[in-house]
Amino acid sequence: MKPKVAFFDFTSCEGCQLNKLNLENDLLDILKHIDIVEFREAMDDKADFYDIAFIEGSISSPTCVERIHDIRRRSNILVALGSCAVNGGVNAMKNLHPIDEVRETVYGDDKYLFATLPAMAVSSVVKVDYEVRGCPMTQQDFLKLLISLVLGKQPPKYGSPVCVECKLSENECLYNRGMVCLGPITRGGCDAICPSFGQFCTGCRGLLDDPNLDGMLELMTSHGISLDEAKKRMLLYNSNEVQL
Ligand code: SF4
Ligand code: SF4
Ligand code: SF4
Repeated sequence: MKPKVAFFDFTSCEGCQLNKLNLENDLLDILKHIDIVEFREAMDDKADFYDIAFIEGSISSPTCVERIHDIRRRSNILVALGSCAVNGGVNAMKNLHPIDEVRETVYGDDKYLFATLPAMAVSSVVKVDYEVRGCPMTQQDFLKLLISLVLGKQPPKYGSPVCVECKLSENECLYNRGMVCLGPITRGGCDAICPSFGQFCTGCRGLLDDPNLDGMLELMTSHGISLDEAKKRMLLYNSNEVQL
């Protein structure tokens, strides 16, 4: 029996789901090993039970809370996909402001028509078994996790900073070129793709388990950006995790 797999979207830009649909070269091979039973972006079918449920997006309304509990009840394994689902991602920047102010800014006079909550990681509401980090999550990461689950193996875990992969790729550090980069505090697994193309890391895979945040701020400000700008960069993907 092939495992029944479903994909669900919550508060998100749907970029992670699109990345899956773009797996054109591998999609037919993937479908030999799994049955996709629910995927709003690609099909109308629905199912009652899922061996693996993939969740994109953060939880940011009472309806989201109700829905994710329902999906969790129907799922054997639940996976958070992309930074919005893993830690709230860019959506969590709204949590830096009073929720009433956010509602008024977005909905104006209609603010009471739309219930909203602080943007939460899926794991803040239900048990999450595995995660695929990044904004968007990469196709390689997604495939590695899916193959591991289908084979009944443990998926890879990433605990080292982006800097380690950057050094292994023999990149010149961008700090030497006058840029600031969040590689020292950001969880790797992306093969330091941004620095490898001359772009500083913005931290989309979230923080390490024990990041040196003060040291990071000091490093960034000593390379010419204001404390305010340094904090903004650290908060971009980590508003739910960083207290500054
Ligand atoms: S993680 Fe990034 S690409 Fe994925 S849904 Fe969120 S904002 Fe979009
Ligand atoms: S460019 Fe960024 S990721 Fe690479 S070594 Fe420097 S700080 Fe680390
Ligand atoms: S280098 Fe940084 S911003 Fe780029 S993909 Fe990796 S974690 Fe994300």
